[in-house]
Amino acid sequence: MDSESSLCDKLAACTRIFVMQGLIGLFGHVSVYDPEAKRVFITPGMGSDKADLRAADMVLTDLDGQALDGEQRAPVEWPIHTALHATREDALAVAHLHTPYATLFAIAKRKFRPVTLQGALFSGGVPLYSEAHLITTPARGRRLAKVIGNKRAALLRGHGIVVVGRNLAEVLYASLVLEDDAKKSAQAASLGSLGFISLEESRAFAAEIALERRAQRAWDYFSRLEARWDRQAGTGRMELFP
Ligand SMILES: [Zn+2]
Repeated sequence: MDSESSLCDKLAACTRIFVMQGLIGLFGHVSVYDPEAKRVFITPGMGSDKADLRAADMVLTDLDGQALDGEQRAPVEWPIHTALHATREDALAVAHLHTPYATLFAIAKRKFRPVTLQGALFSGGVPLYSEAHLITTPARGRRLAKVIGNKRAALLRGHGIVVVGRNLAEVLYASLVLEDDAKKSAQAASLGSLGFISLEESRAFAAEIALERRAQRAWDYFSRLEARWDRQAGTGRMELFP
């Protein structure tokens, strides 16, 4: 397990990459959890400029969303994070994003099914949290945790997505993949009906290249791009699979 200062460095880096990729902006937040101390580190909320976030900007809270130091307060939808960190051992990092393409599946009345090999990460499905409201109370957070079950992500109707992972590299990679797969689904639908990746094909692909390795490669790659990014909105973005 990383030290808390290393977790905060990585959380800031992960969020800056999301900004560069156009997946987080005015809204959206990312968190990481220290299960031993039961402490949550979360990015500042609505309106903060996330392109330049540093470790010191992170908000530290307990599992009740109470800020533990500093002046910053947690984003209003903190129960998304605390509910998942508290109930799932494999949800050590959580992103809540309003990404342009994956959010389409939280609007259209069709289930998300992967259309690319990398998207096979979501072969178990991406369940829909059907209530159209912000997740601002622990009760709503618990309902979200129930909807997502043991899955890697959920869609929030008319709102956005939630992605969980064992670490920030996994959350970054899974979020990029979900967005990429959703984009390709939406674009390919204009050409005709879609061919989906089957469960068997998904399993075979996962067995060939471990998720951990793919996630780490993506983390290293996007970290290098982010290091030389000029921090201007709308620049620096690179397709996951150009
Ligand atoms: Zn939201």
